[in-house]
Amino acid sequence: MMDSVRRAQYLKTLGVDVWVPRHSSPTAPLGEALPVASHAEMAAAPVAPAIVTTPATPAPVAPATSQPPVVTTWESLRTEVLACTKCSLHTGRTQGVFGVGNREAQWLVVGEAPGAEEDRRGEPFVGRAGHLLDAMLRAIGLNRANNVYIANVLKSRPPGNRDPKPEEVAACLPYLMRQIELLRPRVMLAVGRIAAQNLLATDAPLGRLRGKVHHFGELNTPLIVTYHPAYLLRTPGDKRKAWEDLKFARNVFRGLNPT
Ligand code: URA
Repeated sequence: MMDSVRRAQYLKTLGVDVWVPRHSSPTAPLGEALPVASHAEMAAAPVAPAIVTTPATPAPVAPATSQPPVVTTWESLRTEVLACTKCSLHTGRTQGVFGVGNREAQWLVVGEAPGAEEDRRGEPFVGRAGHLLDAMLRAIGLNRANNVYIANVLKSRPPGNRDPKPEEVAACLPYLMRQIELLRPRVMLAVGRIAAQNLLATDAPLGRLRGKVHHFGELNTPLIVTYHPAYLLRTPGDKRKAWEDLKFARNVFRGLNPT
């Protein structure tokens, strides 16, 4: 369990206001810094009171071919991704960006596509948005070294950070699907509209996708949607809503693993 000082530091990095109750009581000791919007929930009830769920969205499937099924391992898939030339993005990239984290993690975080820094370093979310994502994850006890896997819808950088084109998503999404099959996460967090819409095969706006539990694929994996950290850097006023999403996701996860 994360101590309150560390949690407060993470929340500060995240930009979520913290406060100390003016009239501290024995149940709220001095120094127990809590987020403005959420001090009641921070007692960490195991399951959120009302978790709205939506039916499972079938995982997008690759078109049927007459090829025999490919046996995938993490390493063979990684090799395939790094050598991929299925869309034109391969011509402008420094390298493919496969994914990072614990391949036995119970959490999967899905973003959009590598940016300039990710393209240079070959790892997802290592630029400014990545630092914020790390802080967001740490606030709910997750980090890429131990208990979360992070991947993108696209494995190659779109020029100028433009939105992915449909043909690029069509070429690349099967790789993410195979990563999900290998990982078999217990819970998924889609950060941003592009990840959420493509995983859920919907064009609903992000605002309508937040705040409920979606279910992904044949395993009905719970999927929660929140803002992309790059959006939060531009719109810090929405960080508090992102914090609500993270707590919601954490409660969904805790509900799957009652202690
Ligand atoms: N934004 C993303 O969606 N993914 C990354 O890896 C970096 C920035």
